Formats: sequence, C-alpha cells, structure tokens
Amino acid sequence: MDGILALCHFCETHGPCVILCTQRSKEEPLQTPHTLTVTWCEACQSVDLSQALVSRDNKTTYVTTRTPQQQDLAFLLKQAAVRSLSCEEETSKEGGTLYFGDNERGHVISHTFTLRDSLARGFYRKYSIIMLMKDKIHLLNSWPMLADVINGAEQAQRPQRAVRQAQGSPRNTARSLSQLTGQPAVFGHIHLWFTWMLSCETVIEKPNAGLPLPPFRSPFTLRKFANEWDEVVFQVACFCTVTGYRLEIDDFLVKDAFQVLLPSNFTPFHNAPVCILKNEDRWVVEWGGQLPPRLPTLITVAEKGLKNENLPDAALVPYINGLVLKWLHIAQSIYWSKSNNNSQLLQTLGVQSHDMPLINYWLTQLSLNK
Ligand SMILES: [Zn+2]
Repeated sequence: MDGILALCHFCETHGPCVILCTQRSKEEPLQTPHTLTVTWCEACQSVDLSQALVSRDNKTTYVTTRTPQQQDLAFLLKQAAVRSLSCEEETSKEGGTLYFGDNERGHVISHTFTLRDSLARGFYRKYSIIMLMKDKIHLLNSWPMLADVINGAEQAQRPQRAVRQAQGSPRNTARSLSQLTGQPAVFGHIHLWFTWMLSCETVIEKPNAGLPLPPFRSPFTLRKFANEWDEVVFQVACFCTVTGYRLEIDDFLVKDAFQVLLPSNFTPFHNAPVCILKNEDRWVVEWGGQLPPRLPTLITVAEKGLKNENLPDAALVPYINGLVLKWLHIAQSIYWSKSNNNSQLLQTLGVQSHDMPLINYWLTQLSLNK
C-alpha cells in the first residue's frame, strides 16, 4: 500500500517528534537520507540520522529512516505527530486510536500507547504509531490490519516494561525505546513490521459478478395471483421459479409475473422436472416434485408483502426488488467466499437449511454469469 508509517514519541525535552518512519521507495537511498537538522536526545533516538534500514522484495524497496527522505513529507509527519500526541482524546494513559486529516495534509490514523518508565514524568512515556496516506478510504481500510499488528507489538513489550521498572535509577532519565523495552534490535523489528504492513495489499477488489435487476419490474400481477390463486398452486409456482425448475405456462404474462422473484438472466435447470401451470377455470399445477415443509425465506417474505393489504402498490415494488437484491447479495457473498459449506458464514448471512434449494440454484447461476 502507498503511504508512510511512523513511530512518534512525546519527548520530555523536545516535545512530540517523529523518531522513525518507513516508506516505499523505487530504489535504495543513494546518499544520506535527509538534509534536515534534527535535535534529539536519548529518548527520541532511533536509527542514526545518516543511516537507513532497507528491505527489498521483487519490485519494491522499503526504507526506514529517522526522518522522511522528502522535506514536505517531514513537515506533514511532524504535524501529524504533534496532533497524535497532543489531542485531548489521546492523552489518557491507556492510549487510543484516532483518525484525522484532510485532502491537503493527508489522512492519518494514529494509535497512541504508553510504556511504563519509573524515571519518566507520570511514570510512563507516550508513543504513537501513525499512518499517513493520501487516500482516506484506503487508509481506513488498512486500519483492521494495523490494529492487529499494534496489539501484537504492545503485548510483546509488556514483560519488558515490568523488568525495566524493577531496575534502579540510572543517572540519565532519558531512555530510548530499545533501552525501555530491553530489546536492542527494537528499531529493526519495527522496520520489519512497518515493511510488512506497507507490502500488504489490504483493499480486496471483489469482481462485480452482480446481475443487475431490470430497471422496473411490476409485482402487481403477482399480487393478483397471490390473492386469487389457490395457495399451494401459487407457492409451487414461486418455489419452482426461485429454485430453478422450469415453468411451462401458455400465458407469457403469467410466466413473467413470477420472474420478478428472480434476478435477471437466470435460466432454469434443464434436467429438473417441469412445472406445468394450466388455467382450467382456475389455475392448477402439475409437477412431479413436492413442496418442502418450509419454503425459502424469500418466498415467505414475498408472500407476506403481496398479501398485505396495508402495503400500497407503490411500496410493493421496492419491497420485492429489495428482497430479491438481498438474496442475490447473500448468494454472491457465498459465491465469493468459495466455500459453500461454511456454516458460520451461512449463519451470519441468515441462511437456513430451507433456503438452501434457492441458494444452490442461485450459486449455479452466478458461476454461469460471471
Ligand atoms: Zn528528545
């Protein structure tokens, strides 16, 4: 991902400052990483000013330096560091997470945390990890992963804090992060964490396999059938439609009426028993199959709306289309997950066993129409 990650510290002598930052680079830095004069003490020390920690993968180089290689970035990061370590919400000892920023200065997620230090003012030292990005959406999408890494990092440091606290008082009260955590290679570890985070592509673009509904489909004829037809005949026709059986009806208008229960472009299974609907004074059905004890939720909910006298025609259109879209999205989520038997996912999506005939048919259609 594009962006810059930085570790900041509230130094008792120098105030909020960036002590280390990692960014992507096309090539290794050829000369000393920066020309800035940076005041520092033991507490805000990390890698040397003239040093760079570098990791490389096939295409990209990840560079960690004391300050960013570009001066304008150094300024933006400094501003972000001040804000992340000075904000009201962030001054609690427990630390916390904050988003701030705009399109001009970039978008920032900041996570503040403290390390215990018997020599520090208030017995703790305050740090923050900030991620600065131009793209707000991309940044916010990266947050769950950043949170995971930070939690892991903080937990790893906890035992070290206790050890340091139990030690006597050194002459100099300012202590670097590596002294505080008892890990001489802590900045190397941070470099590797930051590098790993920058190398991850966190935004997963899902293919748009959606089958758009037609712009307008009127469920009014279907409402008429729901109210006038024999209930079982109506339910068989609905069930066959949404689970992929072929409907054979002389009257195209009748066939179309049931199609509102399906996304567009769905074609029935060819080898399934055909469901024949005939108008013999009243509509009757001939079908070799049998209705299950519980109908798929889509049918139950659709039938409820169609038969509800208090639901005006104008509201019925979005009611039915919304229902079909909902089940289309459920089917798509399952299709994308590539694991039809993931019971936890099915449960989360509200799919029950009586919905499976519908889901199985819709998944087949999604794979055909991808
Ligand atoms: Zn300092």
